[in-house]
Amino acid sequence: MWTRVFSRLASPAVQRSACASRPRRTPRGPEWAQAPLPSPLPSLHLREQQSLSSVSHPQVQHLVRSVRALNEERMVEVEWEDGGCSLYPFTWLRDNCQCPLCTLDSAQARKLLLSNVDINTGVDAVELTSDGHVSVVWPEKHTSVFKADWLKRRCFSAAARRALQEEFFLNERVYWDATLQMPTADFHEVLHDDKAALAWLLALRRVGIVYLRGAPAEEGQVARLVERIGYLRLTFYGHTWHVKDKPMANNVAYTSGMLIAHTDYPALHFAPGVQFLHCISQAAEGGESQVVDGFHMAEQLRKEDPEAFRILTSTLVDFTDTGEDYCDFMLQSKKCIIDVDLEGRVKGINYNNATRDSVLDLPVDQVQPFYRALRTYVDIMTRPENMVTYRMESGDLVTFDNSRLLHGRKSYVSNPDRVRHLEGVYLDWDEVMSRLRILRKSVHGNA
Ligand SMILES: [Zn+2]
Repeated sequence: MWTRVFSRLASPAVQRSACASRPRRTPRGPEWAQAPLPSPLPSLHLREQQSLSSVSHPQVQHLVRSVRALNEERMVEVEWEDGGCSLYPFTWLRDNCQCPLCTLDSAQARKLLLSNVDINTGVDAVELTSDGHVSVVWPEKHTSVFKADWLKRRCFSAAARRALQEEFFLNERVYWDATLQMPTADFHEVLHDDKAALAWLLALRRVGIVYLRGAPAEEGQVARLVERIGYLRLTFYGHTWHVKDKPMANNVAYTSGMLIAHTDYPALHFAPGVQFLHCISQAAEGGESQVVDGFHMAEQLRKEDPEAFRILTSTLVDFTDTGEDYCDFMLQSKKCIIDVDLEGRVKGINYNNATRDSVLDLPVDQVQPFYRALRTYVDIMTRPENMVTYRMESGDLVTFDNSRLLHGRKSYVSNPDRVRHLEGVYLDWDEVMSRLRILRKSVHGNA
């Protein structure tokens, strides 16, 4: 079981395209959306699992056996030494010529204008060069040369495309419930060791939450962790924000009351993707944190109550947030509680009971069915077997996927002699995934 989970996290199997006739990776069709990954999740202690990040994956060299032009189909067929073949449309090859006239090499960016591409082009000649590249001579006497590995990576077969997209986006998730033993890592190792940082971000993406220990119990630590990635996401609550019991609180989080599980900031159409929370000091009594896997719960809802799932994935709900912090703000947004992608896979959760607007932009006969659907989802999320409860202590830092997890806390006793104080910061997934890809390249040496 451990091996299975870690092979998912390290995902060497998806580092390669697989357009040969015998794919190296079991194809996963749309049924993946219906089939949650195994649960309960085994322990994930990143420090003990060096195999997670220290395995190297030497680059496989792909060799071309033969090439030919299929003039009728207007495609180049490449036959590979290791079996199978790939098809590349003429137009796509012309559009992606890698020569210095067509591509700005220093930026890896296209110079060739689409208006200068004949999208019905033929070819004059296609051949395998002596050094193993594919050469195409176009009717305008322009020559393009493509490296075998470059072509293999861009194979148009369904299996190859799926593998490369998974390498880019790591969309396969490990679902969990109350039995989750949270992935943990050391704050200083993550800051200073690339392998530890990569393991951290892989688990953050796959599992959705990673606990870091050993941060100094003082302000500024979330900013240090952000610098490891790139830059933070500024919002109306500031560059970083301080969760404390505040008089005249401008947010329910800034009280000592309990917070039911929620995602942060659905009042923004583009809500922050990632959140870091650092415990500077904990209350003497109460204040335990709670998290739930919103994707897993959405799949449970899909299975148990398909109509409720349909309503929550197709009804736009109004969210609102008004006040003053970094500056004054008056936000309105419209979001589905559960976002799905074009294939129906759950890709985001937007739920915050405090900022869900009293304005409900629905025909009146759809109001009651909406409440029934939302209540069904909330009831699933609050089942004890789905909720993970933990208590942060000074120096602990939790990092989690705000587009997937719902988080909350128990109420606490507010005491001026021992103030509960968390510092938080937001980031977005684009920046986090960018750092993950760079770390993967520097640790494993592949693209
Ligand atoms: Zn060119």
